[in-house]
Amino acid sequence: KLKGKTAVVTGSTSGIGLAYARAFAGAGANVVINGLGAEADIEKARSGLEAEFEVKAVYSPADMTKPAEIAGMIELGETTFGSVDILVNNAGIQFVSPVESFPVEKWDAIIAINLSSAFHAIRAAVPGMKKRGWGRIITTASAHSTVASPFKSAYVAAKHGIAGLTKAVALELAPHRITCNCISPGYVWTSLVEKQIPDTMKSRGMTREQVVNDVLLAAQPTKQFVTVEQVAALALYLCSDDAAQITGSNLSIDGGWTAA
Ligand code: NAD
Repeated sequence: KLKGKTAVVTGSTSGIGLAYARAFAGAGANVVINGLGAEADIEKARSGLEAEFEVKAVYSPADMTKPAEIAGMIELGETTFGSVDILVNNAGIQFVSPVESFPVEKWDAIIAINLSSAFHAIRAAVPGMKKRGWGRIITTASAHSTVASPFKSAYVAAKHGIAGLTKAVALELAPHRITCNCISPGYVWTSLVEKQIPDTMKSRGMTREQVVNDVLLAAQPTKQFVTVEQVAALALYLCSDDAAQITGSNLSIDGGWTAA
């Protein structure tokens, strides 16, 4: 379905990003992966995509806090594969602190990685998409792009920013057969979430089940985690012709969280 197309996915060395890369490769697209991690692990992910899906995959080490490196990542996709047709802005970090003591450097890093990197990548990818008259831009926002939680000021501000950026870019690109949308997951089962469980069990004196249901899934009415595969399947749908009229949308996949 995506044969001959190229997808760039930021923050795809783990979690949701890696699932996006697998979904696009599974549909026949060549992929540019990106993100932090041990060299050997990244190479294993890259070569694994090529072996499993019979596509080409390259790795860009671009740091999402560095605009010139972000432009270089798009250029790597264009020079290696001839085009960047699908851009997924997914890299993201979190930091939790009361606003009055929120470290300024953490604020700056979250705004840079979770919000500004999407602008820089879109800016670099759009000229090629316009020239070819087709494109898909998808950003991983969050339930926190529409509702807030305490102590997450930077993350909530950045994710609300993504929802706005998505709308503005969608309007600009609508005449060019380029759609721009964001996907807003609730709690997704990634190693990041899994790793919090033992510590929370200890510090709150709770069972594993209590931590999952009463802490992590407190806001999620289905009481189930979203899976990375479910998020990736939605992104893959957004790349189909059936989704050509979906643009400027913020698509929730959150077990009912933001309906409450
Ligand atoms: P993750 O930690 O597994 O993935 C984050 C990715 O971003 C990693 O590949 C990491 O290397 C990369 N990254 C971090 N800083 C970077 C930098 N400076 N330059 C380049 N890459 C960088 O976490 P995840 O849960 O898969 O998160 C992916 C996205 O999904 C994030 O934007 C996050 O905010 C969003 N999200 C996650 C959840 C959840 O519950 N897990 C819910 C809603 C939204």
